[in-house]
Amino acid sequence: MSEAPLAPRVAEALRRVRSELRAACRRAGRAEDAAELVAVSKRKPTEAILAALAAGQRDFGENYAQELRDKARDLAHAEGLRWHYIGPLQRNKVKYVVGTATLVHAVDSQAIMDALERRAAGLGLLQDVLVQVNLAAEPQKAGIMAEDLPVLVEHFARTEHLRLRGLMLMPPWDPDPEASRPLFRRLAELKEGLFGSGLRNVVPDHLSMGMSHDFAVAVEEGATLVRVGTAIFGERPPPRNV
Ligand SMILES: *Cc1c(COP(=O)(O)O)cnc(C)c1O
Repeated sequence: MSEAPLAPRVAEALRRVRSELRAACRRAGRAEDAAELVAVSKRKPTEAILAALAAGQRDFGENYAQELRDKARDLAHAEGLRWHYIGPLQRNKVKYVVGTATLVHAVDSQAIMDALERRAAGLGLLQDVLVQVNLAAEPQKAGIMAEDLPVLVEHFARTEHLRLRGLMLMPPWDPDPEASRPLFRRLAELKEGLFGSGLRNVVPDHLSMGMSHDFAVAVEEGATLVRVGTAIFGERPPPRNV
């Protein structure tokens, strides 16, 4: 079976995802544009990103630091493109991310915060970040435990070049999107709790949650950013270095 050419395929998939996104917003009684679509382009070639850009997509998510660096360089002249760094961060990789990503989604330790702060200070910029919460307390999984969130948030008092914009969730994989609903709801509650921090650089207006198979449920529970890859770009090749 031969596949349709890339550009119309991506444009059609984007139309479908955007229409489902609007429908989910309406069902939840939210404004139709209450949730922004972050197109996850990891392990996809720049041609796929250009196809999505041509179809009006502006926000793209990457989760490998060097891949973000390389694509940002290759697409430096693409107008209006905004990068989101959605992957786990290592301290020696923050240099590829700070200033390149409009939003860093998966901050989960004071050590990473300090590394981001140093880099952002060096570049003289304000870096927007989200904190990833490991709500299901899965071992070996990125994100901080919910009970450790208050202490991590207090650490923002020590940073001048970071701004906490909200929370991010990667729930345990379950083919049934309803399985994640309670976790989406819990993350929304935790985000509301951040408003009481009293810190000038804690401005928690974002909830990054929902992927290809469960973004509609995430939007019903308050997502403002959904991270959708497969439903737009198709299946990915397997990860590198594995
Ligand atoms: C890959 C990835 C996504 C997108 O997953 P799909 O199932 O392809 O939509 C979302 N968030 C994160 C953190 C990812 O790594």
